[in-house]
This record gives sequence, C-alpha cells and structure tokens, in this order.
Amino acid sequence: MKSKAKPSGRGFYRRSRQRERILALLRSTESHPTAAWVYDRLKREFPRLSVGTVYRNVAILVEEGLVNRIDFGSTFDRFDANTAPHYHFICEECARIIDVEVPFDHSITTRVDPTSGLEVHRHEIEFYGLCDACKKER
Ligand SMILES: [Zn+2]
Ligand SMILES: [Zn+2]
Repeated sequence: MKSKAKPSGRGFYRRSRQRERILALLRSTESHPTAAWVYDRLKREFPRLSVGTVYRNVAILVEEGLVNRIDFGSTFDRFDANTAPHYHFICEECARIIDVEVPFDHSITTRVDPTSGLEVHRHEIEFYGLCDACKKER
C-alpha cells in the first residue's frame, strides 16, 4: 500500500478539477511530455489556463508523489505519471524518452560503499541511442 502524500509546508492541497485533468492526461500517455504539451491539450477546456498554471499544478502532483519530474539536462522538464521504478531510453536524434523493459535493479543502491558516508536514496539509469523512427530515417 502506498503511504499518503507527504504534507508540504503549505499543508495538504485542495483537490482541483484542473489538476485532476492534468493528472489524467499525464497518465494517458507514455511520451513523458512537457508542461507546454499538457497546456496545448487542455487550453480549450480551461480557457484561463496558462503554461505557468500547468507547471505549478504539475509541481504539486510531483510533491504528492503522483508524478515524477524527469531532468536529463534537457531544456524543458518532462513529466512521467508512471511512478513505478523504471529506466528510460533517450533518443539522441529526436529526444524522445521511452520506457525500457529492463528489470529495475534495486540492489544497485546497496552497492555504494557504506564507508563512503553517502546515504543513497535512489538511482537512475538512462540508455541512449536511436529510436525506431529515427533509425528508419537513416
Ligand atoms: Zn528518435
Ligand atoms: Zn517513464
């Protein structure tokens, strides 16, 4: 069972329909989209929406542990509603981020030298190369 979201400095967040829709949209895709992508798809439904509002709402979802922020040094933050531990493949040509079916190795974190004084919380592995579409274009 998943534990309840951590209470933030500002207390628990009020549920909002906008945020529910953002979460549903993020859960409907495996494309690890940006805030701008979400905004594009919801702007008609919520005429007062802005990229900034999307960003703030996604930040709350991240804080609540419902969405992961992916930062591979790309220009824009990308988001992932798949919060189960998994690895990513990043296409060097089109920057697509794809989930890879490699078994997640929880033991890696225990392999860091315990005398190093480091407290390891998590690890990430990224695979780089060409996606199927880009490979075909070559
Ligand atoms: Zn590609
Ligand atoms: Zn992912």
